[in-house]
Amino acid sequence: MARDYNTPERMQEMLKAIRTTSTMASRNVTCPYCGHRAFTVYEGATGYLQTKCSKCRHIVSFNLVSMRRVKPKPRKAAAGGPLQNQ
Ligand SMILES: [Zn+2]
Repeated sequence: MARDYNTPERMQEMLKAIRTTSTMASRNVTCPYCGHRAFTVYEGATGYLQTKCSKCRHIVSFNLVSMRRVKPKPRKAAAGGPLQNQ
């Protein structure tokens, strides 16, 4: 029996998750081996997660409880910045 990865129900779930998380605070978690962005954690996430880094191929595990403090995306100030003219 073929596995149905791309069912309409799963696509609806994914689209709903995208809509839900679009307004949530998030934090990018980087690979401890190479610094590549491993995944994104949204506010309230708990539990353990394992993933394989797409850059260095190490398998890394994370405890999401230690990543609960999610800062909201900083708003960029209009003044200052690295592109100041002299
Ligand atoms: Zn890596």
